[in-house]
Amino acid sequence: MTDLYTHYSCRPYWATAVPDEDQINIGERFKTGAIAPASGVYRYVEHCEEHKHSLACTPSIVEMDIKLSRGDKVPPLRSCGESVIWRLVSLT
Ligand SMILES: [Zn+2]
Repeated sequence: MTDLYTHYSCRPYWATAVPDEDQINIGERFKTGAIAPASGVYRYVEHCEEHKHSLACTPSIVEMDIKLSRGDKVPPLRSCGESVIWRLVSLT
């Protein structure tokens, strides 16, 4: 398995394994490239990189919330394709 910590520059916010469904916490953060531990709505928090791009990049309202299914790969921000942090806001 590819080492995501190496591939992406963010600090790891997520556990190394997909947690059991009963261990999922609302508010937990996941980064682009992680595996979604639960089906739910994930909300944009911030870009991973603290360079000029993230200061200039403002996600539109429609891409702030994304729906993922358990086991889905957490995507980058749609409009710019950069690695970002998402926060789990509700389960579906
Ligand atoms: Zn961006």
